Amino acid sequence: MVVVDINKKIWLSSPHMGEMEQVYVKEAFDTNWVAPLGPNVNAFEDAIADSLKENVKIAALSSGTAALHLGLKLLGVESGDMVICQSFTFSASANPICYLGAIPVFVDSETDTWNLSPALLENAIQDCIKKGKKPKAIIAVHLYGMPYKVKEVKAISETYGIPILEDSAEALGSTCNRQACGTFGDIGVLSFNGNKIITTSGGGALVSRNTDYVKKAIFLATQARDEAPHYQHSQLGYNYRMSNVLAGVGRGQMLVLEDRVMARRRNYERYHEELGSLPGIEFLSEPSGYFSNRWLSCVLTPSYKVREQLRLALLEQNIESRPLWKPLHLQPVFENFPKFTDGTAEDLFNRGLCLPSGSNLSHDDLSCVIQKIKSTL
Ligand SMILES: *Cc1c(COP(=O)(O)O)cnc(C)c1O
Repeated sequence: MVVVDINKKIWLSSPHMGEMEQVYVKEAFDTNWVAPLGPNVNAFEDAIADSLKENVKIAALSSGTAALHLGLKLLGVESGDMVICQSFTFSASANPICYLGAIPVFVDSETDTWNLSPALLENAIQDCIKKGKKPKAIIAVHLYGMPYKVKEVKAISETYGIPILEDSAEALGSTCNRQACGTFGDIGVLSFNGNKIITTSGGGALVSRNTDYVKKAIFLATQARDEAPHYQHSQLGYNYRMSNVLAGVGRGQMLVLEDRVMARRRNYERYHEELGSLPGIEFLSEPSGYFSNRWLSCVLTPSYKVREQLRLALLEQNIESRPLWKPLHLQPVFENFPKFTDGTAEDLFNRGLCLPSGSNLSHDDLSCVIQKIKSTL
């Protein structure tokens, strides 16, 4: 029997600092590099590149959303263009399409990875082409850390000559056939928001093998300043660069990334072991060759009703859980855009729940969650 301290909240996914973050932050203060540039930014970018391999270059930015925005700009997306976007994702995947005045075309998921359905993706592309508007980019997402169908989506991207903007905001540390998520697209996006697998409190990065893209991203992120002693601009710029103080946090977090991934995977394995045989409860297993960071552990329940019962029962115990992402084609802000759906994401949203998944959860925290789920079902 686990003793429940009801004053203590069990969070879905909270920040988990290591030992070096404050050392690097202090270094920024001691050397007065309190600016959106400096040695921590460079070292953080190098650490990310080392961990992703594949010869990628990195631009550390103020958020994952900023990286998506610049990624679309670099791929030439302009007002009126079509951009394909996975519907089953967080709104930040699609918002930047609209910042640019472009039109999102939402595509449903398949059930093996919960990500972009290759069949519906191809339908969507063909439909856009028929209407004389070939999409300018495909935004594919590794949701909850599970890699999307990398090979199939890439084949379609190559067949039609449409670049991939890979939203890897939830998938740092995930791999597919040993290649790191973030390195599959023409441009990849990472997030270091507070709830992600590692965090800089807020931050993101743009990833690419194409050095010109990364240089251009840094140029645009620092107000697109032309070379001149005065401030000279021939393009619209943004203030999207990462602060050297926060990059210090990121450097420290990169040292513990592997531990964080293993801790989250252990959470998933324990939930799976303890709950996997309950009637009607399903988990998302990894297809062969897929390695998920298990950013969030998710379960599917038999129905919307059971999902809500479970969520409310946990809440009563001061345990935070959350329905899976509501598909973007069902969000009021996006509901009038084109969509290619078959009900998969809607069903996942109705029946699915994200369980507490932080790498800093104790064995007893997890026991408490598991016990409550068992007693409710
Ligand atoms: C968190 C997240 C983002 C946005 O990243 P921010 O750093 O919060 O701007 C984009 N896409 C997905 C799938 C995310 O989970």
